[in-house]
Amino acid sequence: MDIVTAPNKILQRKLKKVEKITPEIKQLAEAMKKKMLESDGVGLSANQIGRDLQLCVIHPSVAKEAGVPEIFINPEITEYSKEKEDMEEGCLSIPGHFAFTKRAKKIRVKALNLEGKRLRFRARGLLARILQHEIDHLNGKLIKDKEE
Ligand code: ZN
Repeated sequence: MDIVTAPNKILQRKLKKVEKITPEIKQLAEAMKKKMLESDGVGLSANQIGRDLQLCVIHPSVAKEAGVPEIFINPEITEYSKEKEDMEEGCLSIPGHFAFTKRAKKIRVKALNLEGKRLRFRARGLLARILQHEIDHLNGKLIKDKEE
């Protein structure tokens, strides 16, 4: 499994919702976690390994600290704080590229966990930044689209 790099069409479209959490989806999520860790990433979305599914993973240490799962299915941001923060970000799909990216400091998120349970939570700090980055991926957006 290789990481898809830009430009690639699968990185530029809104992905399909996961309709059913099958054993294959669980396997895929585990494989994504492994790939993210191997690649020294803090998050990874399904389209970054060529899959058209609204599924993303985040680094276990970030998840643990915030008390949220490492795997999110069909995640959505329901609220953004007005307060923004500018920080440098990279992306495994754009190797060697780093860009200051303005993001909401705090967000509210809804998603399903791997058991299909509905989650609603608030995120701030690094978790908020990673989730905004990954949910952008699920909507076909990359950090370089946010520049200019
Ligand atoms: Zn990325």
